Amino acid sequence: MIAQQHHLPTQVYYTSAGPQVQIPLQQVPMATAVIVTPVNFGPHAQHMICPHCGSHIKTTIETETTWLTHAFAIGLILLGCILCSCLPYLMNSCKNTSHYCPNCNAFLGMHSTGPCK
Ligand SMILES: [Zn+2]
Repeated sequence: MIAQQHHLPTQVYYTSAGPQVQIPLQQVPMATAVIVTPVNFGPHAQHMICPHCGSHIKTTIETETTWLTHAFAIGLILLGCILCSCLPYLMNSCKNTSHYCPNCNAFLGMHSTGPCK
């Protein structure tokens, strides 16, 4: 004998074809129920749909040095590699990268530096 289990709530949609019972909705935690899909921005320009103007764009990027960039440079100097100390400034992966929409110039997001990759 199969016990009648009470599952997740179902939503019933009434269309011209008659009522249709949908598959039980997955319970989504509130934190992830965001309308705008988060984009993982990398250190390079990337193709995406601008959430501001809706255009399919390739982001324009601006890199900027951060305290981490300087920290790496100082660390390399302390390690005795003075010539290497300019490397963090040459590597985009050691900087913050801001992504902008070339169409509407909206700020779309930022790639923050973790440890240099
Ligand atoms: Zn845009």
